[in-house]
Amino acid sequence: MNYEADIAIIGAGPAGSTAAYLLSKVGLKVILIDKCFFPRDKLCGGLVSAKALRLLEKIFDETEESLNQKQIINFSSNKFEFVCKKKSLAKCYTKVPTHFVERTVYDKFLLDKALDSGTKIIYGEEVKKVDLDSNILITSQGNKINSKYIIGADGANSILRKEFEGIGSIDKESWLKNLGFAFETYIAKDKLSFETDTMYLYFGYMKTGYAWVFPNKDKLVVGIGGLLKELNNKDFKTIFNSFLISLGLDKKTVDDYIKDIRGHPIPFGNFIENPVYKNTILIGDAAGLVNPVTGEGIYYAQRSAEIAVDVILKNYNNPGNLVEDYTKNLNLHLMPELLKTRKRRNMYFRIFNNYYLGKIVTFFMFRKVKYV
Ligand SMILES: Cc1cc2nc3c(=O)[nH]c(=O)nc-3n(C[C@H](O)[C@H](O)[C@H](O)COP(=O)(O)OP(=O)(O)OC[C@H]3O[C@@H](n4cnc5c(N)ncnc54)[C@H](O)[C@@H]3O)c2cc1C
Repeated sequence: MNYEADIAIIGAGPAGSTAAYLLSKVGLKVILIDKCFFPRDKLCGGLVSAKALRLLEKIFDETEESLNQKQIINFSSNKFEFVCKKKSLAKCYTKVPTHFVERTVYDKFLLDKALDSGTKIIYGEEVKKVDLDSNILITSQGNKINSKYIIGADGANSILRKEFEGIGSIDKESWLKNLGFAFETYIAKDKLSFETDTMYLYFGYMKTGYAWVFPNKDKLVVGIGGLLKELNNKDFKTIFNSFLISLGLDKKTVDDYIKDIRGHPIPFGNFIENPVYKNTILIGDAAGLVNPVTGEGIYYAQRSAEIAVDVILKNYNNPGNLVEDYTKNLNLHLMPELLKTRKRRNMYFRIFNNYYLGKIVTFFMFRKVKYV
């Protein structure tokens, strides 16, 4: 079957659904294609930072209260603790809570917003081929989508990014250099003996990465992630195993959890310099836009979607300036913070991976928000 659209978007994660919503709202014909059926799960800690929440409120005309009422926010916590191996570096209390979502619920909520504003979705079909010159997408079912613009919001394993590599517009080596990988599992709250309403960040397990325990309403999200080039899959699993044991779980319980762990790549400082070619734009994880220390990606996915939409609308009838405009706006609004964070990354991890240094630095960093 052949489809025609103004904009075709690959991937209905936070990046793709946000772009679809904004473009459909101004009356453009948008087709969103996702290889999954929704609701679908996505491996993620589900942490929504304060800036991510503000952006969500602004774009979708929601409030913290409405998101709580609709149960989009699954859990909120004012407490966090930094730990180096088993020793606490700092226990803190923030005025503004950190929010946690379940991606199954969150992504469906964003997708519904896009559908309500007129986006058409093709579910369960994987985009297999993209012609960057004629703007034609071909799906696993052989369907063809012809559009004026293409947005690649297809995550860390983006097919569109691979097409960019194919034409030499992106360097594969530099993508791999800062690629991260993360494992996660869910643990029942009653399995752990410490406070389960607190967000914990654990250092000292990896050179460039960390482990976490994030609170949810009815479970804990436990994970570990870091730079892939420093470790292989087997090492990650061994480290995750010793991390779970250090949380106080017995060996049999850990063995059961280890069977169920899932892993996923995560961009970790591999931002793409020119994530745009002719009428095709990469956003979110597909463009490598994730914080290279914390791994926060939801904010950058939705903010890059907003930037891409602004640029497409501005250049809609004259796409000649799209490449320059998108790069310029990313450099203005997102890249300074991301590049600065990547530059300081080794320093941050050297500090938090060392108990004494970590203790001193967190003392000054968090002196106004300590609760213990
Ligand atoms: C273990 C882990 C924990 C994380 N924790 C956090 C956290 O706590 N907070 C945070 O802010 N970020 C976190 N992140 C990062 C966050 O998950 C990503 O940055 C975010 O999901 C990026 O959104 P996206 O829309 O760009 O891509 P995605 O959410 O990956 O969505 C991509 C979509 O594209 C679809 N797709 C892919 N390829 C194709 C194709 N060829 N054809 C059709 N459809 C396709 C997929 O099915 C998917 O629905 C974490 C990541 C990992 C791996």
